Amino acid sequence: MICMNTRHKSARHKSAPTIPDQPFLAPGEQVLSTLEADGSRRWLKPKLSRGKLLTRRRIMAYVLIAIFTLLPFVKIAGKPLVLLDIVTRRFTIFGFTFLPTDTVLLVIFLVGVLLGIVLFTTLFGRVWCGWACPQTVYMEFVFRPIERLFEGTSGRGGDKKKIAAWRIMAKYVVYFLVCLHLANTFLAYFVGVDRMNQWVARSPLEHPGPFLVVAFVTFAMMVDFCFFREQMCLIACPYGRLQSVLLDQHSLVVAYDAKRGDPRGKVNQRAGTELPVPGDCVDCGNCVTTCPTGIDIRDGLQMECINCTQCIDACNTVMKKVGRQPDLIRFSSQAVDQGAASTLLRARTLIYPLLLLGVTIAFFSVLLLGKPFDAVLLRNVGNPHTMTDSGQIRNLMKIKLTNRTEESLTLELLPGGAEGIFIENQSRGLALRPRETRTFDVSFVAPYDAFSWGRADLIVTVKDQNGIERTLDSKLIGPYSRPVPKP
Ligand code: SF4
Ligand code: SF4
Repeated sequence: MICMNTRHKSARHKSAPTIPDQPFLAPGEQVLSTLEADGSRRWLKPKLSRGKLLTRRRIMAYVLIAIFTLLPFVKIAGKPLVLLDIVTRRFTIFGFTFLPTDTVLLVIFLVGVLLGIVLFTTLFGRVWCGWACPQTVYMEFVFRPIERLFEGTSGRGGDKKKIAAWRIMAKYVVYFLVCLHLANTFLAYFVGVDRMNQWVARSPLEHPGPFLVVAFVTFAMMVDFCFFREQMCLIACPYGRLQSVLLDQHSLVVAYDAKRGDPRGKVNQRAGTELPVPGDCVDCGNCVTTCPTGIDIRDGLQMECINCTQCIDACNTVMKKVGRQPDLIRFSSQAVDQGAASTLLRARTLIYPLLLLGVTIAFFSVLLLGKPFDAVLLRNVGNPHTMTDSGQIRNLMKIKLTNRTEESLTLELLPGGAEGIFIENQSRGLALRPRETRTFDVSFVAPYDAFSWGRADLIVTVKDQNGIERTLDSKLIGPYSRPVPKP
């Protein structure tokens, strides 16, 4: 765990104006980078800083956008690579189909994801946020470029010059089209591109449900990218709030080298011999005006920093201009900044990979060694038992069978448990088409003597044509006292 600055202490922030005639106490300094001292929203319009890190991020962003857009179209052997079909409750991910009964797999998968996030963050800090999170990728490489195209850029705090109304309108029209496209792509993950294409070609009245989903997602994206913006990272995202416990002293962070940079001063101050010799920071403020979350990295590590590296590119450009060494702001770690050696070998970085390896092995073991079918025994609602003409006890139950394979299956039920149990109504195998789920009625009958205190053990073996079996344990329900047979 490491400590982060949560309040901004730069001179710029300290000089935030106090508000006259306020009914309440005015804050002494700015509290959030996106909040003015009077509580109103501080709109950020970060200046783009070009540099080698921006180029790398841009390449990565476009690759990720291409993957997100094209993934629903990819099929292998006629089967979609990714399809999260909520209606039929089948989730196909990279060729593997998961069913709602795969609870164990789901739990192992979620534990693995959690461990992966913790390990990745311990090693690389918040690199995910700045380089791969869809929020940042679309905000910084789609929506902000569109905004700059129509409105220009003026750096932190918003544009002071008046922008023509048509430019603002045009920006929102383009935003809307992008959001609509994103919402359609998003829906394609859940219904598949074939059905999506059919819906797009037809009237919304023929498919009002999916139309409303697209409308809602489009609206939500408009709110996010037009209004909420960087506040998603600063306020809403739980991952950002967890940084201080996920990072340690050796985690990779974007950091300002205060030893080298301070005391700060303008370049033209350097000629005066009476001034203290300033550090390398010329206090140009470019690292602040370029920051998409509106912070000043010179205040130290802050929860708001998403490791986007824009301040690194901005500062390196300045350092080059003033003839100083680059990397006054750079990837570093708190340990390195305090003079310790950088190391990858820490308790966390040894334990987490071992746990992750165990979870991965468990996941693939369950996935690959799983049975070709699922079987669940369900009790009928209503009257739990009846009596046959011969005085035996009958339990009407249901068995839900799922064929997990791409071939037809014929399943056989073999009753066991208490002495004398048999199935009344099953004369032949239960047939399932590929990937089919069906529920069958099953009538179990047992002699009264099989029951003790109204219960009899029931063990059902479900066997496929290849001899693969699943065993289900249950109980038959019967009367507490011997019933009188019907006359
Ligand atoms: S401080 Fe630098 S790395 Fe962090 S969010 Fe701002 S510009 Fe990006
Ligand atoms: S960009 Fe570099 S030189 Fe300019 S204020 Fe930031 S740290 Fe100082």
